[in-house]
Amino acid sequence: MKIENIIERICPICKEKEIISFRKEQKHTNGYWNEYITFKCGLTLHFSPNYMTVIREGQCENDSKVKERERKKQILLKKIVDIINESDLDKKIKEDLISNIKWNISRFIQPPFPE
Ligand SMILES: [Zn+2]
Repeated sequence: MKIENIIERICPICKEKEIISFRKEQKHTNGYWNEYITFKCGLTLHFSPNYMTVIREGQCENDSKVKERERKKQILLKKIVDIINESDLDKKIKEDLISNIKWNISRFIQPPFPE
């Protein structure tokens, strides 16, 4: 498979060179394919035929901004969990709330476009 529209072969954030996957799928009506390169650090470069540009998806685990955001999220999560646990709600409701909040906090990832 030939990736034609992504020139980069190193992670633009941490300079990781190891690529763990190349993918090409879902040909657009304009004739271009969606192309993906994923680096060992977790970042994916995606050539989007919708935008005719390369966008970033996922997170580079070596990105200091990501690490700092994760640290802040964990601090916030702990505060929320403490508040829920201190409430007089039933144990099952507390567990469900905490589980739901943990899932929601974990799914926020770096936006694909530059901040
Ligand atoms: Zn990286």
